[in-house]
Amino acid sequence: MSFAIRGIVFDGEKLLGEKYVIVDKNKIVKISDSDEGLKVYEGKFIIPGLIDAHMHFFGVINDNVLEWNVTSGELSTARSAGDMIRLLASGFTTVRDLGSKSAIALAKAEKEGRFIGPRIIASGYSLAETGGDDDPKVLPLDMAQRLSYSFYCDSPWECRKAVRLAIRQGAEVIKVYASGAFSNSGNPKPALTVDDLKAIVEEAHRAGLKVAAHAYGEEAIANSVEAGIDTIEHGLGLTEDLAREIRRKGICYVPTLATYELPLELSYEEEIAKKREELISRHFKEDMEIAVNEGLKIAAGTDYVGSKLRPHGRNYREIVLLAKYMGYENALKAATSVAAECLGINAGKIKENYIADIVSVKKNPLENSENLSPENIEFVVRKGNWYNAEYLREAFKWL
Ligand SMILES: [Zn+2]
Repeated sequence: MSFAIRGIVFDGEKLLGEKYVIVDKNKIVKISDSDEGLKVYEGKFIIPGLIDAHMHFFGVINDNVLEWNVTSGELSTARSAGDMIRLLASGFTTVRDLGSKSAIALAKAEKEGRFIGPRIIASGYSLAETGGDDDPKVLPLDMAQRLSYSFYCDSPWECRKAVRLAIRQGAEVIKVYASGAFSNSGNPKPALTVDDLKAIVEEAHRAGLKVAAHAYGEEAIANSVEAGIDTIEHGLGLTEDLAREIRRKGICYVPTLATYELPLELSYEEEIAKKREELISRHFKEDMEIAVNEGLKIAAGTDYVGSKLRPHGRNYREIVLLAKYMGYENALKAATSVAAECLGINAGKIKENYIADIVSVKKNPLENSENLSPENIEFVVRKGNWYNAEYLREAFKWL
């Protein structure tokens, strides 16, 4: 089916002004000055479908390590099916799930056309060392491993095997924990060795997959960069030297600010809580200033998981937060053209031969990123299919 979308077009890189975007089947075939005799959908501000480069389909209610792990794959997938629609209705047409029990199945169903939602680039299970922060250590190890959304690996060969297992699941990207988080260690300590990380990168690249590294703290970032990973996730504790190396190697930086602006449900010992506060306020100041000043490729990623606190559908928050450092236009690029480049996919632009993932926004997102809030999303085109965003939001109300 062919149709045209009329409106003021931002193509992911620049403002084109009033245009008609011509869609045929699942592709954008032309940016035109006329409707070419086709059915026209009247939009306002037309932008490429938004991309969340770091999220999880956990399908949980609360944010705690035990619930993340013990929620079954079936329940997680069923709950996340609703989140797929909420993401679509809020303008997100691509998401990268970096570790969950449900994303591979959801990605497959979406690809087959049996369910609607954003395209999912799924990592399948993530890779983590035994006894790391995402390992629920209150459980016996065999039980923890059976319930986990991570493969535990502790040597280069075990990690190679873990990459192969993730690929066997259907992974399109490999996610590795190169450090813990705040939960058990006030000062984040690196996880896995550089040799482990190198083995992971080599094995993933051999299969044509990129590697995303969760890295808290200078040492974990340095290890990841040395090993040749493709995207730094979170990246707390960035330094100028590291940033220069990151830029030189063409690595992307995904600061996931949206997850840190929230009051966490997790409770910490006083000492850890203090350290956590320090690291986060540094992330919102020095880390971001360095990343922007050094000209890093920054992609928008929320680390939302679909819980009450971090619900899918509010993912535009990352764009609002990034805009404080980069301005509205660059923040929008971080969620469109730049994010697509970081993920290595044909999306994020309104351009001939690109996938027809398009959003109409009621108010100009280049004047204020808050205008990307779900209430302002008018309609969404995903793979050339047109959806009334207001209808979807009404039918699949938020938590
Ligand atoms: Zn994450």
